[in-house]
Amino acid sequence: MITRSPIDVQTTPLQDPVSPGTRKPAWQRQLAGAIRDPRVLCERLRLSDAWLPGAETGHSLFEIRVPEAYLARIRPGDPHDPLLRQVLPLNAEMRQSPGYTLDPLNEAVHTPKRGLIHKYHGRVLLIASPACAVNCRYCFRRHFPYTENAPSRAQWQDTLDYLREDTSIREAILSGGDPLAANDRQLAWLVEQLGAISHLKRLRIHTRLPVVIPDRVDPKLLGWLGRTRLQKVVVLHTNHPNEVDDAVIKACTRLKETGATLLNQSVLLRGINDNVAALTSLSERLFEAGILPYYLHVLDPVQGAAHFDVSDEEARGLMEALRERLPGFLMPRLVREIAGKTAKTPL
Ligand code: SF4
Repeated sequence: MITRSPIDVQTTPLQDPVSPGTRKPAWQRQLAGAIRDPRVLCERLRLSDAWLPGAETGHSLFEIRVPEAYLARIRPGDPHDPLLRQVLPLNAEMRQSPGYTLDPLNEAVHTPKRGLIHKYHGRVLLIASPACAVNCRYCFRRHFPYTENAPSRAQWQDTLDYLREDTSIREAILSGGDPLAANDRQLAWLVEQLGAISHLKRLRIHTRLPVVIPDRVDPKLLGWLGRTRLQKVVVLHTNHPNEVDDAVIKACTRLKETGATLLNQSVLLRGINDNVAALTSLSERLFEAGILPYYLHVLDPVQGAAHFDVSDEEARGLMEALRERLPGFLMPRLVREIAGKTAKTPL
């Protein structure tokens, strides 16, 4: 059976190895020490043996990856913990469900250069790292061919030329995987190159790393992010209030001090945040961390994730109930991404 995973590629042009004798930063050591064995995950969280076969089966399709900083926020002995459900593979991932595909957003047709996706006007998405800090079971890119899209340094120049030549591009979006899984020296280089393209106005970074390993927000990252002349937007990915602990709040406060605008996107997930209490508390907690709720996505129909689906009708009902509890500025927009559409579709 083929295991497809963003983390199959450990070293890419934006993730060059640390020289011998140099101690890796704390976040890289945490990333390297993440749990990648279903048995260890079940043992550490005191889950009964009944969960192991499903975990092993799902792991064979898309491997487990759970760093300690995330594990620490999961309640041991509770198989229904909302953070655990995001990372624990289940037998249900083997189910073939009609309409669920390997590339639900049809991204393969929007890749004019290696590692570059250009599907929205004025914005391009750069795959800055194939790795993630955590492997989320519902991920719409769980089957994405990262290996084919990891550009070499020469191919990065080619990608940068594409951006230089198209003056309609205003915004570069660093994505992945998780772009902050790339090392700081390389990210600093890339962001400097982007800053030198005069028609580019904004740098957007889509990342889950500050939530999963808050130590990722260290002085080196703050250095290159703070230096760029580009306007900065960091879009975090958080699905449940239990993810936002004090360390995350501190990390986000430091990110904000670089002048970055912090937004959050979530995915509406069955059994994780499909209730008014969780969604209300998520918005409140995000705001405590200086983050504004941005999008609440309905699930992208990626093969292996159908058990997370929440119907449109139920999603709209949840939004109605949320509107009665939250001020407008804490309301995320409920959206769906539809392959071929040039913008997200509000529901
Ligand atoms: S949802 Fe984001 S962080 Fe999670 S596996 Fe997918 S790309 Fe990585």
